Amino acid sequence: MPEDLAGLLARPHVLLDFDGPVCAVYGGTSSRVVANHLRERLRDGGAPVPADIAATDDPLDVLRHAATIDAGCLSRIESDFVGQEVAAVATATATPGAAQAVSALVAAGRTITIVSNNSADAVRAYLKRAGLTGLVAGVAGRVPRRPDLMKPHPHLLREAMTALATTAAECVMIGDSETDIEVAHLVGSPAVAFAHKPSKRARLEALDPEAIITSMFDVSTAVP
Ligand SMILES: [Mg+2]
Repeated sequence: MPEDLAGLLARPHVLLDFDGPVCAVYGGTSSRVVANHLRERLRDGGAPVPADIAATDDPLDVLRHAATIDAGCLSRIESDFVGQEVAAVATATATPGAAQAVSALVAAGRTITIVSNNSADAVRAYLKRAGLTGLVAGVAGRVPRRPDLMKPHPHLLREAMTALATTAAECVMIGDSETDIEVAHLVGSPAVAFAHKPSKRARLEALDPEAIITSMFDVSTAVP
C-alpha cells in the first residue's frame, strides 16, 4: 500500500532528481544532437563506436562507452559533454509545478538537494536561470570522469546525505527514472515516482515506489 504523500514529504530532506522533476534538460535542444556530437568526438579520436552506441539518443550512454576506452578518451568526452549540458540548460524547459514544489517544501522547512546524473555545472546554471539557487541546499552532480558512480550507484545519494549530516530514513527521493526508485531503496530512503508520461507509469510502479505522482503540483498541494 503506497504511503501517504504528505507523510513522505514530512521527512526533513528531499533528494530531488533534476532532469524530469525540475526541468527537461534537452527541452529546447535535443539529446540526440548532443549524443551525435559526442559520437563524432569519439570518432575524431579514433575510438570505436559499436552499434548500440551509434543508435542511442542518450549522451550518458556515450559517456559510459568512453569510460570503457581509456582515461584520455573519457576525459575529453566528459569535458565536452559538460559544455554541451551547460549550453542545453540555457534553453531547458521548466517542469510545470517544479518551482512551486521547491518553494512549498522550503517554506515548510524541508531542505532540497539536487541529486543528478547531469553535471553540477549544468544543474547550477539552470537553478540560477530559474531563480531557484537560494532555495536549494546542495547539488550532488555527476562525478567527473566517473560515470560508474552515476545513479543507480548509491554514491550521489550518500554524498548528499553526508553533506546534510543525515540518514536515509530522514530523506525522501523524488525522481522520474527507474534508477531513482532503485537507488532510493538501495540506500534505504522512500521514493516518490514522478510519472509525467503515461508510458513511464507501469515501469515505475513495478519498482514499488512509496508514492506515484503525475504532476509536480502534487508536491506543493500535499506538502504538510
Ligand atoms: Mg530524471
